[in-house]
Amino acid sequence: MPGSNDSLAAKDVHFQLHSYADARAHEEKGPLIIERGDGVFVIDEQGNRYLEAMAGLWSVALGFSERRLVDAACRQLQTLPFYHTFGHKSHPSSIALAERLIELAPVPMSKVYFTNSGSEANDVLIKLIWYRNNAIGEARRKKIISHVGGYHGVTGLSGSLTGLASVHTGFDLPLPGFLHVTTPHFYRQGRPGENEEQFAERLALELEELIQREGPETIAAFIAEPLMGAGGVIVPPPTYWARVQQVCRRHEVLIVADEVISGFGRTGKRFGCETFGIAPDAMILSKQLSSSYQPIAAVLINEKLYAAIADHSHALGVLGTGFTGSGHPVASAVALANINIVECEHLTEHAAEMGQRLLAGLHRLSDSPLIGQVRGCGLIAGIELVSDKTTRAPSNGVGRLGKYFTDRAQRNGLIVRAIGDTIALCPPLIINVEEVDLLLARFQRSLGETLDWLRSEGA
Ligand code: PMP
Repeated sequence: MPGSNDSLAAKDVHFQLHSYADARAHEEKGPLIIERGDGVFVIDEQGNRYLEAMAGLWSVALGFSERRLVDAACRQLQTLPFYHTFGHKSHPSSIALAERLIELAPVPMSKVYFTNSGSEANDVLIKLIWYRNNAIGEARRKKIISHVGGYHGVTGLSGSLTGLASVHTGFDLPLPGFLHVTTPHFYRQGRPGENEEQFAERLALELEELIQREGPETIAAFIAEPLMGAGGVIVPPPTYWARVQQVCRRHEVLIVADEVISGFGRTGKRFGCETFGIAPDAMILSKQLSSSYQPIAAVLINEKLYAAIADHSHALGVLGTGFTGSGHPVASAVALANINIVECEHLTEHAAEMGQRLLAGLHRLSDSPLIGQVRGCGLIAGIELVSDKTTRAPSNGVGRLGKYFTDRAQRNGLIVRAIGDTIALCPPLIINVEEVDLLLARFQRSLGETLDWLRSEGA
């Protein structure tokens, strides 16, 4: 049948995988084909129902069947399906969304620049920072600092910002001028006898020394996630951000918060910046911005950045950077409807409450010999699996426990993500009490099965 050939071909050519996935197993089994969504659940082509505990890619705040977002898209498609924002033109839905983002920003922001993805947003922001530094006569200030393990995207510049070998290897990344500092991961990076505050202090000193070594006049910005997502759900020590910001301010290094995962209620406050006390010069937003029903991301910059950029572009005659889809009317309309639902239905407060229930449930499981650490904040959690709690050792190589657990969980109707041996949970914000309990029950069952497997191996 031609139809089935077509769909087979589609499966075969669809090879885009993140490095966490086991490529060989993928080739043998083929991908899980998800056909439909229903609230926090997704349904595969065989009719199996899964609780989607990763909200897709950390992004589907409103779940997989929110009619009001579909309606917003249809209304916009019927009114103005496309217009652009080049050459002094704009359209109402992009303007309304920009105004709403400025209104909601945790610190005064001046302007919004839209892109189609988080990667592009980081890419453009780096260019805007370089442009601004040229404008203010600081042409040497171009280096960018981010975290080892931080995730910021995969384009040339955003991939350089990302601190993961899997994004660099084979692609000649990172580009020169991108520097990475230690992951604020106390469980793995803390030294014997060191407490969390001393650990944070050591990392602040590391940043200070790096800036001094490179020359403060060459460092443009520190760009980081308030809490790290794709690097393993890493919650920094409570004093970390205050100390890091002091160092940056002292050297006039711009502070950028990549809120692509942490924005719009995920950490139990509207933005991760509020949870962690960050006052950024610029922010990157995406994912929960539109619940990923439409691709859209936003760069927010403060007046200090904007004023210099505007002057420079007037002098040059153009700001030569923009995408056909920047501020796309349909994506903007969906994002605006999405944010209004998150706000009006108090989903941030709901996420804080559900997050507490989820984390309490996970902590109750942490007697398991497999759980090294449970960490999280709001409705995002990381459970680091180990085969020996004292040495914190993985089982025969990093990633084996994580992979086995993820496979079991999938069989038990639970979609999670393994980042090495850390199991990430990031369910839709709309998850309710019964669904949190179901998630925990399926998690516990998968944990028990993983332990049985490990024991049966005699490991
Ligand atoms: N920043 C962060 C913090 C992210 O988690 C991601 C995606 N996981 C990105 C940027 C890149 O976004 P995109 O995949 O839309 O390019």
